[in-house]
Amino acid sequence: MTLTQKSFATIIARVGALAAVAGLPAGLIGGAAWGLGLAGLVVTLAFMYYAWKLASLHSWLDDPKAATLPDAGGLWGDVLGKLYRHIKQERISQQALSAALDRFQRAAEALPDGALMLDKQNNIVWLNSTAEEHWGISLAHDRMQTVTYFIRYPEFIDYLGARQFGEPLALRTSRKDAGGATKEVSLAVQLVAFGEDQMLLLSRDVSERDRLETMRRDFVANVAHELRTPITVMAGFLETLTNVGAGNPDLLQKSLTHMTAQATRMQRLVEDLLTLSRLEDHAARSVPAPVNVPELVASLVIDAGQLSGGRHQIHTQIAEAWLLGNRDELASAFGNLISNAVRYTPAGGSITITWMVEAGAPLFRVHDTGEGIAPEHIPRLTERFYRVDRGRSQASGGTGLGLAIVKHALIRHDGRLDIQSSRGAEQHGSTFTIHFPAARLCAAQPRLQAVA
Ligand code: ADP
Repeated sequence: MTLTQKSFATIIARVGALAAVAGLPAGLIGGAAWGLGLAGLVVTLAFMYYAWKLASLHSWLDDPKAATLPDAGGLWGDVLGKLYRHIKQERISQQALSAALDRFQRAAEALPDGALMLDKQNNIVWLNSTAEEHWGISLAHDRMQTVTYFIRYPEFIDYLGARQFGEPLALRTSRKDAGGATKEVSLAVQLVAFGEDQMLLLSRDVSERDRLETMRRDFVANVAHELRTPITVMAGFLETLTNVGAGNPDLLQKSLTHMTAQATRMQRLVEDLLTLSRLEDHAARSVPAPVNVPELVASLVIDAGQLSGGRHQIHTQIAEAWLLGNRDELASAFGNLISNAVRYTPAGGSITITWMVEAGAPLFRVHDTGEGIAPEHIPRLTERFYRVDRGRSQASGGTGLGLAIVKHALIRHDGRLDIQSSRGAEQHGSTFTIHFPAARLCAAQPRLQAVA
């Protein structure tokens, strides 16, 4: 006998017994009509009792709380108790499920990558905020929309269609930033299968990696280009000498002079490259030591005089202040600014070199009365191999790395380079100023006394 049959039989037996208990004595005393009437009344009351309990159950199911559980004994009490336990169990598992979902969403939210969940039909089920940013999709507005409605790049549509799980796709996308400007973004995208025909679309912003890779490629191409010219020139002279022979002293002399100039150019380039790579090597950072800047600047001024060969007036203003840093790196930075001023200022111009403390902070400044630099070039001057006039830079012995060296030396000294220049105006010329933080100032080292 099933439980249903058993319960049904119990109810019928109980109502039947009650009807018999009431109907039989009444039938014996008052006759069959009384007996049947009373038994019918008992059945009707039982029906009303069960109907009332059913109505209470119905209203309780709308808001099933233990406190409002309809009061009942017997079979009804049993039914209600079982129902209540069932609902409570359901509620506990629902809470556990929503806690697990919440944990999953928080974990997915914390991912540095974009995560977008797709169903079988490529509809967006869920996405984290990184994915919202990568794809310009809003979870609140675009849920259950087809993903290809938002991501329309043909290569993405092919990738999605081919279901190439595990195979990454490199995608160049454009995105509007907070200011409304469009910027190019490189994304590495990967589709991962999970569950029943569900997919996770992972996306990672690799723009910075791509930018560095492009920079590296450009740098190698630039170095090769810079070296190719002197090598070609030298090879040309060597070929001429081989063909003509060393019997022509004039040609020999001319060739040797040119080849020496090209060799010097290559040497300068290699030296600058080595300096730059030393400055970029973060591991090889020296401990800052007090640097006698007045003495350093004075020696650089002597070098500037030699480079100028008397073609410029050189003025100086040197304060007695020392700086915490690395002497060689400071010499590279200051020396490059001074040699640029000499090289880019026509004969007769003047150069002013200043080392001073202004409002408690030290600064090094080189001002020249050269031609000046057009404003559009100024933000790019510290890029490697960036030159305003390539021919002029090379003719004056420039490698195109001087200001890049200055920039990197300053990064290691918490310094900042400021470039002001005016071109074509009556007061033309350029001013390069290096600002150091006040904390870098230090007391002059006392001279060591000879111990008797
Ligand atoms: P370069 O070896 O070519 O001088 P730098 O990195 O030192 O390379 O300078 C980059 C470019 O900035 C130069 O090619 C030149 O065009 C410009 N420049 C730098 N200093 C000056 C200056 N004092 N006056 C005018 N132009 C300058």
